[in-house]
Amino acid sequence: MIIVPEKEIADLIDRKASFDAVEKVFAAMALGKARNFPVIREDIGYADALYGFKSGFDRAGLALGLKSGGYWPGNEARGLTNHQSTIILFDADTGRLKALVGGNLLTALRTAAAAAVSIKYLAPENARVLGMIGAGHQSAFQMRAAVEQRKFEKIIGWNHRPENLARLETTAKELGLPFEAVDLDRLGVQSDVIITITSSFAPILRDAQVRGGTHIACMGTDTRGKQEVEATLLARASVFTDEIAQAVSIGECQHAIADGSLPKADIRELGAVINGRIKGRSADDEITLFDGTGVALQDLAVAAAAVELAIAKGVALEVGF
Ligand code: NAD
Repeated sequence: MIIVPEKEIADLIDRKASFDAVEKVFAAMALGKARNFPVIREDIGYADALYGFKSGFDRAGLALGLKSGGYWPGNEARGLTNHQSTIILFDADTGRLKALVGGNLLTALRTAAAAAVSIKYLAPENARVLGMIGAGHQSAFQMRAAVEQRKFEKIIGWNHRPENLARLETTAKELGLPFEAVDLDRLGVQSDVIITITSSFAPILRDAQVRGGTHIACMGTDTRGKQEVEATLLARASVFTDEIAQAVSIGECQHAIADGSLPKADIRELGAVINGRIKGRSADDEITLFDGTGVALQDLAVAAAAVELAIAKGVALEVGF
């Protein structure tokens, strides 16, 4: 069995490798070659934690396994990231344990890659202003991946705790882009692309605050009950997702599905756009919305790539098991 420790991941997988792995696996999912199994994600009633596991199998790439872990909101105060996860890979031919891979950085990279893939295929070509809602750990990864997809000239941002906006400002500065903290009205009017990446359980961005011609990547909602945007915004937008079963149960779509304003049949797979089977954006004033729920196959794809690179670079630990 191979172990790839968390501390090795940064030297193995970069944004480009994550983007390629996620784009490829979304395409495989839409072709029915890769399947995610039902997600378990529960409030454990301790440490305010949400714990669960996501598993799946990619028949094309032979990645079989799961990611387990979750979200511990008190971790930041302990000097740890709130997200904690480990990816476990199994041999698809024998079911034997194959690898244990640190999943924290990989989660951030693959989540940012998913939003970036959605921007590549759905955002207006001439997008220049990126609006960020949320300033937590994931937000910097999101911003870095997003700006590689269009010629952004400015970042604007909002967070429910404005004192945390420094993370967005610092990241924008590192990217050589101006940053401005704005209210949600301005964010909705000025942004060509909006990324929401919060732990909110109530809508933050209202339908009326968003003009047309915008792409929105809703990345924070990955659990029953969470919500970042008003449900009527989904009814107005062209909605895409990584996986429909997850979108309607744990994703941003869950609320518009529950109140009947968004028929399930109107939700499309981003993978089908990647494969050229369906169209992405079809009008300049259209709102496209990507519900990025986070699927196991994203984790397995980046973890499998990390294992191969770790072996090649001699940093994988081999343990008899
Ligand atoms: P974090 O704890 O570092 O940051 C949380 C962010 O949400 C902060 O900006 C915080 O101010 C904001 N927030 C918290 N409570 C809020 C509330 N009630 N209303 C509005 N904003 C609130 O977390 P993170 O690692 O940046 O992750 C952000 C979210 O993304 C988490 O909810 C996490 O579960 C989710 N996530 C989703 C995926 C996916 O694939 N879809 C992957 C990783 C993380």
